[in-house]
Amino acid sequence: MTAITTATVARVLSGIKTTPPAQPGNRCRWLVSLSGRLPGVLSINGTPYTVLPLDSGYRLKNHASGAEYDIDTEWGEGQWECSCPDFLYRRQWKDQLGCKHCRALRAGLAALNQAAATNANA
Ligand SMILES: [Zn+2]
Repeated sequence: MTAITTATVARVLSGIKTTPPAQPGNRCRWLVSLSGRLPGVLSINGTPYTVLPLDSGYRLKNHASGAEYDIDTEWGEGQWECSCPDFLYRRQWKDQLGCKHCRALRAGLAALNQAAATNANA
């Protein structure tokens, strides 16, 4: 048995890489999966949002505040437009990833596509 000294513990701890904190907007998961034209419910950083498919994109409704935001996806990937203040004042033409709604919805849709592909291959 080797005695574990304080110095040993300190050396081990200093070698452990801490994982970086999750990017804002990445903490999303479907509470109810979006299915075709039927609305789903996406949890973004712990807040549930109803996601309603529109012809030009999606409408997100914040269950906690009742706020509604439209995400316009017509212009394609990297050019999504959200109607929230954060997007309009801080993201538009500055941040290709967009606001937390764009980020979360993009991640959510990717997860759905991945799940669909997995099911198709099964
Ligand atoms: Zn937004």
